[in-house]
Order: sequence, then C-alpha cells, then structure tokens
Amino acid sequence: MLKTHGCGELRVEHVGQEVTLAGWVSRRRDMGGVVFVDLRDRSGKVQVVIDAGYLQQHFDLAQQIRAEYVLQVRGEVVRRLPGQENRQMATGEIEVKVKEQVVLNPAKTPPFQIDRETAVDESLRLKFRYLDLRRERLQRNLTLRHRAVKFVRDFLDARGFLEIETPILFKSTPEGARDYLVPSRVHPGKFYALPQSPQQLKQLLMVAGYERYFQIARCFRDEDLRADRQPEFTQLDMEMSFVTRDDILDLVEEMIIGMVKHASLVPLATEPFPRLSYREAMERFGTDRPDLRYGLELVDITDIAAHSAFRVFAENAAAGNPVKAICVPGCGNYARREIAELEEIAKANGAKGLATMALDPDTGEMKGFITKFFTVEQLVALTERLQAQPGDLLLFASDSRSVVNAVLGALREEMGRRLGLKETKALSFCWVIDFPLFEEKLEDGHYAPSHHMFTAPKREHIPLLDTDPAAVLSEQYDLVCNGFEVAGGSIRIHERPLQRKIMELIGFSWQQAEEQFGHMLEAFEYGAPPHGGIAPGIDRLVALMAGEPNIREVMAFPKTAQATDLMSDTPSYVMQKQLDELHLTVRLPQAEKM
Ligand code: ASP
Repeated sequence: MLKTHGCGELRVEHVGQEVTLAGWVSRRRDMGGVVFVDLRDRSGKVQVVIDAGYLQQHFDLAQQIRAEYVLQVRGEVVRRLPGQENRQMATGEIEVKVKEQVVLNPAKTPPFQIDRETAVDESLRLKFRYLDLRRERLQRNLTLRHRAVKFVRDFLDARGFLEIETPILFKSTPEGARDYLVPSRVHPGKFYALPQSPQQLKQLLMVAGYERYFQIARCFRDEDLRADRQPEFTQLDMEMSFVTRDDILDLVEEMIIGMVKHASLVPLATEPFPRLSYREAMERFGTDRPDLRYGLELVDITDIAAHSAFRVFAENAAAGNPVKAICVPGCGNYARREIAELEEIAKANGAKGLATMALDPDTGEMKGFITKFFTVEQLVALTERLQAQPGDLLLFASDSRSVVNAVLGALREEMGRRLGLKETKALSFCWVIDFPLFEEKLEDGHYAPSHHMFTAPKREHIPLLDTDPAAVLSEQYDLVCNGFEVAGGSIRIHERPLQRKIMELIGFSWQQAEEQFGHMLEAFEYGAPPHGGIAPGIDRLVALMAGEPNIREVMAFPKTAQATDLMSDTPSYVMQKQLDELHLTVRLPQAEKM
C-alpha cells in the first residue's frame, strides 16, 4: 500500500507515530514559511504541515501544489498547539508534520469546489460525476446505500433466502411499461428485452422449488421520464413459496425497520407500520400513497351538506355522491389570489370549482360565499366534524367519489407542502392492502390490472370475475413512505386456468397468451406452489433514509430526466458496421435529419 493510514483515521493516540498518507489536496493555505494542506481520502481529512524551516526543498514543492493534486506524504503525527485545535474536524486535535512528500499526480482546476457543499448546477455535476462523487454528500449517500444493502443481504441470508441472478437479456412481454430492446445479431429480426423486473423468472424459481429467493435486481423501463424517474433502477426483488400475505408483510416490515435503524440518517416515525385498506387510504387521504407525516385528513360531511341550501352539495348528495372537506389550520386569511391557485389545482383534478369557508381568527365566525346557504346549526356541526379552530380554512369538494378524493388528495398534498409539513424529518411507513384487482374498465371492454397480471384475486372474490370484475379485490400490497410507494407486491396466481382467465379479462387473445406467456402457463402445469413476493425500490428507500429529495443523489452514475448520461454522452450513434451486423436500418425522425 502507498499509505499506512487513512487520513480521517488519525487521532491523539497516533501522536508520535510516523505515518504515510496518500490522498487528494482538499485545501492549501500558504502562511509564509509554512504551508498547511488538508489532505483527503475516503476516510476523511487531516491537516498536514510543510514547514520551510524544516525542509526547504519540500516547501518549494508544496507551494506548487493545488487543489485535487494527488499527494503522498510521510511524516509524524503531532498534537496541535493549544488553542489551534479544530473541533469541526474529527482529526482536529492533531496534524502531520511532513518529512517527505511526493506529488503522485497533478490535477486541473476542478469545475466546481469539491471541499464545500456549494450549490452547483446539476448538469455540471453529472458531466463531471467522478468529481461530484468525491464530495462529502455523495460519499455519505453511497456509503449509506452500501450499508442498507449489506443489512438486507445479511437479514435475508439469516432467514434462508438464496440470492439468485436472473438474465438481463430476456423476452419482450407486454407487462406495463415499454421494454428496452436489444437486437439479436445471430437471429436476424429478433430482439431480447431488458427486464422491467424479474417478475416471471422469480415466479419460475418458485415453480423450481427454491422457496425463498431474493436479488438486488436492476430493472429497465423505457417510460416517458418524469423529473425523478430513471430508465434503470434497482429493486430488492423477493419471492417466497407457501406463504400468506401477512407472512410477507411481517417479514418485510421487520427487515425495513432493521435496515432503517442500522443505516438511516432519518429516524422512523412509527412502529409497527399501520395497515390501511386501499379504500380507507383513498377515503382518508385521497391517494393510495398517503404521506402520514401530517393529518389534514379528508372528512365526509355529506349528511350535513345534504340538508344545506347550497344546491350543488344538496343535489350531489341526493344523487348518492359524497361531499367532503379538509380543514387547513391557520390559512383562514388566504387572499383571493391564493384561493384561486388552490381552485386551479382542484380543477386540474377534475373539480368544476372550489367551495371554501374561513373561520375568523378572532371571533371564529364562518366567512365565505357558501356560508349563507347553511343554518347556524349546520355551521356548528361542520366546525365540530372538522374540528375547525378560529383562523382555519375549509376546502370542500362534491362530485363523484373518485373526483372528490382526487381533488382533496391533491389539495392535502399542496397544503402539506405550503405548511412545511413535508419537511418533517421522519420516515412514516404504512402498508396499503386490499387493492382492487383492476384499475379501470378500458374502452374496448377489457380491464387494466392494478398491479400486474400475475396478482391473485382474493379467493372469495373469484366468482365475481364472471359477474363484476371491477368489484374484485386482490392480494396486492404496497409499502408507502412519506407519500412514495417504496415497495409493491402480491400473492400470485399459481393455477393455469385462473391465470388464463385474468389474461382474457386484460385483453389477451388465446394466441397472444400462448405466444407471450406460454412458458409461464406451461410451468403452472408442473406443480407450481402457492407463492408471493414483493420488490422494495432500493433507490427511493435509500434517498428517503439519506434525507435526499431525489433518487439521483443516491446513484453513482444516474441519467438525466431525458435518459441521457452527460459524462459519456450516452446514448450515442453507432458505426454503420455495427448496424449492418445487427441487420438494422435507422430511420431518423424528420426534424433530426441533418
Ligand atoms: N415485479 C413487481 C414490480 O416491479 C413487484 C412484485 O410484484 O414483486 O412492481
């Protein structure tokens, strides 16, 4: 080794020892006759001192040193003079008096400061990712990620799971998102697909009798990218045989709690995790990904509003639709413009308008256009139901149940943000269970699966598949944290006839089902055990545990929102020869032709 110690390891107990260090120059201060260098490696930083009085030739060399030079020094660890200690530095009580130094490599001036957490344009950070990765923030995040994944591996190993790799080159099957395709050279015109997840393979491993599988699996989805989505991401993919839903939930909950306690910088809010049915989540929070760090719950006031003289509410209630509201503390003084902004959000989620009331901060008197349609008793009942206080703002929605929940769910999110409730540094997990099997009936009469087509309906709901598929509940479960879905899974179908039936409802012809999923259907005829699984998203979990707002901050080499890598300029054109070998002709969209 070119070093005897890590820079950040040195402490008072090393005083008097001769050490050799190697790392990067974090900072250099020339004090006239003495040069101080903060030398940095992955273990941290230490101050090294090059004294002209001690060694002129090294002093001359030290004066040429710049930030990010790679330096090796040999010297003695000495205690700093009293009053010169640096309490901010773990190594701040000592310094290294240099006897010899070697510049292992000079460095160009970096495009941004490495040793300070200054704000740097993200595209510059991504272009020079190897420099960004030298900075403390990413070192901390990637270390946390390693610790979290290591914990998971040890945890699952201790419980009899096997880590098994599955192929990256697999078959293209219509499973939800768009596939990334890889053309085959040896089979002209044929393609592999990169896995959207190892879903089918892990189920086949259960058929194969492995009983407990996991994998830190890379998944690829060619979706329209949103700000915080990545074309490739990592899941902790798991599958188990002979289990019930609660077996999986209990095991994963124990694992997540352990992982958070072992690795997280942000503490856990609640333990055990609350379990909400999909319906309860939608009714109380207007979403199946509720952020439970704050209240602002949706409250049903249909019975009160039904008897008011406000026509929209009364008529909607008479038609069997709900009237619901949220009470926002301290926002009763909102100006017309602020209410108009909220109304825009309501409309973007399907509402025709937004009814509001405000409680006077001093008298508690109810104000707002619609109050005149309510009797005093009704207003008192509203205040009590919503637990409204003077100074609060009430936001109402009345429409179909799904619109009401979507509108108030979006307003709850918005107000949570405005009131700073989303800044609470805590991880608030919950399970959402009992999802409907299908999301919606499509125009062509088929159904879109709410999770994926391998998810089992609840046993007692199987007869409903023939009569009312929309009413069928499934064995799907999601783990949610602070408003993000951090894991999704289900008990699977393991019988061929039921799998075929679901495929038909989703809209696969007999031929399509056989062509694309024949291998799965066939496997189910060779003794498939009852099984189920889940796939926590590693990137999101780590970002939450690191207190980071987006998953790029916990990935070593992430892509931009346009799915490009700015450092290597990926994707890129390839040589004609490569295309010829793959039997491909490229037809560029008109605008991009040169
Ligand atoms: N493969 C599923 C997904 O990626 C997770 C699962 O059902 O285990 O969402």
